[in-house]
Amino acid sequence: MTEKAKVRVRFAPSPTGYLHVGGARTALFNWLYARHEGGQFILRIEDTDQLRSTEASTRAILDAMAWLGLNWDEGPIFQAERVDIHRALVKKLIDEGKAFYCTCTQEELEDKRKRALAEGRKPKYDGSCREKQLTKGEDTVVRFRCPQFGLTVVRDLIKGNITFNNEELDDLVIERADGYPTYNFAVVVDDAEMGITHVIRGDDHVNNTPRQILLYEALGYEVPQFGHVPMILGADKARLSKRHGATSVMAYQEMGYLPEALVNYLVRLGWSHGDQEIFSMDQLIQFFSLTSVGKSAAIFNPEKLLWLNQHYIREYATDRLVENMKPFWAARGFDTSHPDYLRHVADDLRTRSKTLVDMADSGAFYFQDRVNYDPETAKKFLTTDIKDHLLAVADRLPSCGDYSKNGIEVFLREVAENRGVKLKVVAQPLRVALTGKSVSPGIDEVMITLGKDRVIDRIRQAVQYIAGS
Ligand code: GLU
Repeated sequence: MTEKAKVRVRFAPSPTGYLHVGGARTALFNWLYARHEGGQFILRIEDTDQLRSTEASTRAILDAMAWLGLNWDEGPIFQAERVDIHRALVKKLIDEGKAFYCTCTQEELEDKRKRALAEGRKPKYDGSCREKQLTKGEDTVVRFRCPQFGLTVVRDLIKGNITFNNEELDDLVIERADGYPTYNFAVVVDDAEMGITHVIRGDDHVNNTPRQILLYEALGYEVPQFGHVPMILGADKARLSKRHGATSVMAYQEMGYLPEALVNYLVRLGWSHGDQEIFSMDQLIQFFSLTSVGKSAAIFNPEKLLWLNQHYIREYATDRLVENMKPFWAARGFDTSHPDYLRHVADDLRTRSKTLVDMADSGAFYFQDRVNYDPETAKKFLTTDIKDHLLAVADRLPSCGDYSKNGIEVFLREVAENRGVKLKVVAQPLRVALTGKSVSPGIDEVMITLGKDRVIDRIRQAVQYIAGS
């Protein structure tokens, strides 16, 4: 019995921008596959495009992966540091007659392309330099001598077999004039040298795969398995772009999403496990398989993401919720130095918040000593006739012995009864006095969190406001 080769997968972003949600989903699928199989997940930064790659982008990608909790077992490996290996293998192919130097200029190639199109032919490199036995010059590129007959079959774990006619494939450039390898060449060398067993990536690469398979064969490498994941589209079925809303992973963090919500959302874009919608990380690792990845494109649905976010905000452990909230509170200048108070605030607000931004904004009153009244609400509820009701609450509050949810309800009922009015006649103005708004967490919760002293102080502010209005 042969032992099954250990799964080794990789995520190989080009550092030319932020981590896009599509890239994050590719990373997630690779990560889950590795974890499910007990394999290795490798992070490789494909930075051989000297003009477009930036360090800031690399940082942004690493930050986003860390935020999502996608840890890697090896890397980050920087492709640009491996160019000597790539160049040596380009040279090997040239020596073996499997690659050749080409001096065709961009203009010449463009002219030929246009002519082909005008004559109704599919544009393709015409092999001008194939047999010229050129040597390296200043502007020479290296092309792979692509077999011009036969078929190449991509045996895709998600899409099934896809057959390509080699005749359709170009003698692709494998080394640019600046001496750097092109994507198709470097990716093959690195995947092979790093022992990658499964290449899982977006299906925008599916047309590259036959070329890559031919390169694997030319270089004498074993061909890995491939799985091409369908694209993510917007509601209008166009490829997901900024037009459809935020596409950067970290933009979701800034908008107050929890990483678990985004992970849970992304995994369902293309993968399913029965009808289940909510998964813990452990469940995802347990259930994930490439065979349950669908063949068709997934539609990005911001409403569903928001729904999941709400779910996770509701279910999060209080301390973690507070930790995640802290930057949002701090950014608004709120005092975050009283852990107990923060826990109470978070618990009061969690069931009524869709995002952490929501939670920070709607709960601002917890942190502001001067209550900011919503003008319409104040006009309606902070009126002369209720002033004495509020004062009665303030006067009697110090002697309220049972300051629990239940106890507060009993206390407020008693005050109302004593004043000869219904509970809501006291409770609604009290809510406005404490929060400045007509909608807030339960009045009892707010009172417990604020504590008696703050409640009394806020009632005095409201009474002053009434006197002055
Ligand atoms: N650097 C390529 C990209 O970001 C990697 C594609 C692949 O996974 O092969 O699109």
